[in-house]
Amino acid sequence: MATLAPAFSPKHMDYQRIFEEINEEIKNDAPCGEVASYIPELGRVDPNKFGVHLTTVNGEHYSFGDSDEKFSIQSIAKVLSLAMAYNMEGEALWERVGVEPSGTPFNSLVQLEYDMGIPRNPFSNAGALVIADILVSHLANPKEEFIRFVREVSGNNEIDYCTRIAESEKSMGYRNAALINLMKSFGNIKNDIDVVMDFYFNLCSIEMTCKELSRTFLFLATYGICPETKQTILSVSKAKRINAIMQLCGFYDEAGEFSFKVGLPGKSGVGGGIVAIYPNKYSIALWSPRLNKKGNSSKGIKFLELLTTKTQASIF
Ligand code: GLU
Repeated sequence: MATLAPAFSPKHMDYQRIFEEINEEIKNDAPCGEVASYIPELGRVDPNKFGVHLTTVNGEHYSFGDSDEKFSIQSIAKVLSLAMAYNMEGEALWERVGVEPSGTPFNSLVQLEYDMGIPRNPFSNAGALVIADILVSHLANPKEEFIRFVREVSGNNEIDYCTRIAESEKSMGYRNAALINLMKSFGNIKNDIDVVMDFYFNLCSIEMTCKELSRTFLFLATYGICPETKQTILSVSKAKRINAIMQLCGFYDEAGEFSFKVGLPGKSGVGGGIVAIYPNKYSIALWSPRLNKKGNSSKGIKFLELLTTKTQASIF
């Protein structure tokens, strides 16, 4: 029977060498896609930035490129707001939002009317607005308490919102306003629309480096327990379920394609970030602001596809 070559054995995985090898392969590719400009402040980001950071469950770190530069994590924060709301609301949460892939763009309105104001999943904008509404119901000071939770999970007290980006998104937030108004008309938003939207725009504005992001998401590779502090962030079952939703819904109408090419649960954001989880092995964050037509980082997906191909390791 064939045995695994040492470079492919999980114990001997030389991620640094693999990162360099992937970079050699893709560095001369023509730049693909555009930065998101519907949020004016995001349109000012240098499109050619590129960073990667992988944190293993054993605390090893591997990085490449602009991995220490902060960027706007945008929709990636929806995983953290879901984790917090799931802990507070328990299974009742699924009465207000589904767990099915939407097959539609992140800001789509079309399904919502057919579905009587119940979003297909918590990672579409509509779903994340419902999650934001749930947190506003539970928390006396949503912004303060949510960022405290994020700091706890990330083990980093410096993580913060970016008011400039939140205000910039608010100035152009017409589609999110349409989504939340439609859901309010169906009774699936309980709080004042402006309060929920303000909280939502702020949570999307959180900034992290690739290193901070991969460290923050490590708890989803370790069945809900923060490997450093041993603190339980989520139960094993809730961590499994959030990974499952990332697998099915983390990349909007490109979730199938991402599973097909990469084979890991993950979540993207329109700031060009991607986080992906290999349960029991690692959490990896990538940042490349040029987005493809589906709103996901082109180079980030390519890099991850090559990573799971070269390491011959994905969850499938
Ligand atoms: N704040 C963004 C929006 O609501 C998040 C979208 C994303 O990152 O996919 O449009």
